[in-house]
Amino acid sequence: MSLPNPVDPPRVTLMGPGPSQTSESVLAALARPTLGHLDPRFLAIMDEIAQMLRQVFGTDNRTTLPISGTGSAGMETCVMNLVEPGDAVLVGVNGVFGGRLCEVASRAGGEVTRVEAPWGRAFSPEDFERAAAGRRFKVLCVVHAETSTGVLQDLSGLREVADRMGALLLVDTVTSLGGVPVELDRFGVDATYSGTQKCLSCPPGLSPVSFSDRAVDVIGARTSPVRSWYMDIGQLTRYWGGERAYHHTAPINMLYGLHEALRLCLVEGLPARFERHRLHARALAAGLGAMGLELPVPEAIRLPPLTLVKVGAEVDEAAVRRRLLTEHGMEIGGGLGDFKGKAWRIGLMGASSSRGNVEGCLSALAEALQHQGVASRGDGLAAAREVYASV
Ligand SMILES: *Cc1c(COP(=O)(O)O)cnc(C)c1O
Repeated sequence: MSLPNPVDPPRVTLMGPGPSQTSESVLAALARPTLGHLDPRFLAIMDEIAQMLRQVFGTDNRTTLPISGTGSAGMETCVMNLVEPGDAVLVGVNGVFGGRLCEVASRAGGEVTRVEAPWGRAFSPEDFERAAAGRRFKVLCVVHAETSTGVLQDLSGLREVADRMGALLLVDTVTSLGGVPVELDRFGVDATYSGTQKCLSCPPGLSPVSFSDRAVDVIGARTSPVRSWYMDIGQLTRYWGGERAYHHTAPINMLYGLHEALRLCLVEGLPARFERHRLHARALAAGLGAMGLELPVPEAIRLPPLTLVKVGAEVDEAAVRRRLLTEHGMEIGGGLGDFKGKAWRIGLMGASSSRGNVEGCLSALAEALQHQGVASRGDGLAAAREVYASV
């Protein structure tokens, strides 16, 4: 048998729920020479990464570092460090990732109370207050940007609610970091995890996390060791902080990529970056609306990096996605959970959030629908262009 050829993937326009397109300079950074993980020049790069992460997270938290693993590894890191067996955990569930948090928290031995909201809707602080019913909790968990539904959860008021139940506030910022303001310190977030492949536009493989001093104290006061050796934040801090003690070999080249991705965020400027995400999401929504497609998430809580689109029963939604991929070199996502088979998820994350992608996607969707004999109501491209002309 002959050897396989080297991998040679085509360029796909990534407009699904992640991964997003990787910026060219991030790809170039990944290909730089590998250093040793204790080389002083690499340690200097780590310090810059931690500092840039604090800026993008909007925090002064000393304990801010990327976990070696994808977003879910960051989720496990936060939960495994904060939750001891028997601890009461309150989790908001309005999509897939709230559900995953419940699963991880109960595997950590937590006594989980779920607070449900319909898929496609957000929580009010009172929803958590009511569910707590005066009981105390160790951790209150919410998803900031629910990628399964395209809902942005307002974090205002949650700190106060968490305080009243004696809880730490844990927030999933996987799809918000670098795409919408996160501002951990302003909202009093105690622990968070994110991912590289959504709005940071770096390949999947790292999960930035951040813990407040209060959370670090709670971890320090545990009565049992953290049940994950790999994700023990105390040990990881000894490598990322002063001591530089070997724990596990850092994924050097992935960290080069993250360094460049964070640099790109700060070069663009966070306010400009958030405005770009809002603008392209608005143009996409206008285009989809003009085509007669329904966006089930109310505009006030719509997540700019991810748009949920309802697909009528007359449309074979999977066939449209296949055609986009094969004929247009473009990937969008299907629905999950309550929306499986009934929706598309269109991502405009990081480098993928561009006018070219919005216009390309609207044209490709119109073509793919027409190919199925489904007529669009109006001209999506023209509606999107009107939005661009108005700014
Ligand atoms: C993608 C995602 C995750 C999981 O991240 P992986 O990188 O797939 O492990 C968790 N939460 C949210 C909100 C996500 O969008």
